[in-house]
Amino acid sequence: MEESKSLKKVKLAVAENRIVRLTATDSFFSIYIYLAKEGGRHKDHILGENFCDCKYFVFHSIYSATPLECYHLRALKTTLSGEKIITINTSFKNITEIITDIYAYGKSLKLRKLITT
Ligand SMILES: [Zn+2]
Repeated sequence: MEESKSLKKVKLAVAENRIVRLTATDSFFSIYIYLAKEGGRHKDHILGENFCDCKYFVFHSIYSATPLECYHLRALKTTLSGEKIITINTSFKNITEIITDIYAYGKSLKLRKLITT
């Protein structure tokens, strides 16, 4: 992806609060989710501080000695360097259900419900 176009996507993702932190209230566990846009073929992504589950990241991690960051990870790092990140405190069970949702359907309805309630 062209650098300036990629930077624009990162900035937009940060402005739209697409990064959400999920923290387990009943264990020491936390993970980040990149919330996809509604509609279309976009999928939610599961992120750690140096990991993303998207094809771009996985492909570049396998074939390159110095993995390139996908724009989800860049959006995560930009969000973390700022003050505001949406944090959802919930049970470990709910977090595993959200991850299962994302693998099964591409998006988590459960996570969207948690954010809006
Ligand atoms: Zn990614």
